[in-house]
Amino acid sequence: MDGASEAARGGARPGGPLRSRRVLAGLGAGSAALALACSPGGGGDPGHDAAAEVRVVATVVPLALLASPLASSRVAVEVLVPPGATPHGYEPRPSDVARLAAADLFLRVGGSLDAWAARLLDAAGREPASFVLLDVPDLGLRGLHGAPLRPTEEPDPHVWLDPVRVRDRVLPVLARRVAAVEPEGPAAVAGRLEAFRRELTSLDGEIRGLLEGIPTRAFVSFHPTWGYFAERYGLRELEALEKAPGRPPSPAELARLAELARSEGVRAVLLEPQLDPKLGRALAREIGVATVVADPLGDPRDPERSTYAGLMRFNARAFHRALGGASPP
Ligand SMILES: [Zn+2]
Repeated sequence: MDGASEAARGGARPGGPLRSRRVLAGLGAGSAALALACSPGGGGDPGHDAAAEVRVVATVVPLALLASPLASSRVAVEVLVPPGATPHGYEPRPSDVARLAAADLFLRVGGSLDAWAARLLDAAGREPASFVLLDVPDLGLRGLHGAPLRPTEEPDPHVWLDPVRVRDRVLPVLARRVAAVEPEGPAAVAGRLEAFRRELTSLDGEIRGLLEGIPTRAFVSFHPTWGYFAERYGLRELEALEKAPGRPPSPAELARLAELARSEGVRAVLLEPQLDPKLGRALAREIGVATVVADPLGDPRDPERSTYAGLMRFNARAFHRALGGASPP
């Protein structure tokens, strides 16, 4: 693709057993297959994975990417918000209620990101066993852009974008929930958990190595997503184009943001596949820099972004490009 991608590919890639545990839909080689709750045309069919003995339903793709490597092929992991859509302000469909009604384990982020899940649970008339990401103990939650969390403030929910928090805090709790429903029993889950955690240790080192020597550390994101990632890897999310999901900046705010980005030497504006790129492109034009796509959610249809580690490598390469770590994009 380009120099940055090549540099990333040149790094050590863990070749462990997880390589065979990609969660591509329909390719459940020994571990859970990730099913999309919604075909591109809409109208998902809750009965399509009838072979699975156990159903895990996640509100968003990243939770499914974390759960799938922990579960066997006897577990179907399904996602409600279709790939390419943003979970902020998602409108659940009747088929989502049917999925939840049949779920053995429900994975959600918590807070406002998937607050619509509460309505779904009401409509489904039952509360399956649940994993709530933001309820995981000792997560070290932060406010937007990595700021300390004020008592009245809702935490930045995008915790999964820090592989170390995922490895040390999230996966052990998630694995206990998966083990409670896994037909192969807890020992099998424990083994997969250890392999996954080792993979994340190696992933963390890889990202650290890639982003170590880049010349700039500051960036502008599209929506306030990258605080935990930036904190982990010594970067600085200056500001986001959208202060809150779905709230575009006024022309005056845009001008001020361009001024700030220029004075901080920002080299690129980050876009996200799930959000309209128009505003980001306008800002990039205004400051005379390129746009770079980074993806906070992942997409089971794209082999590059269909596993957690793959997604994070994709993002590390995007940041490497955005921050001037290779020849200009
Ligand atoms: Zn978000």
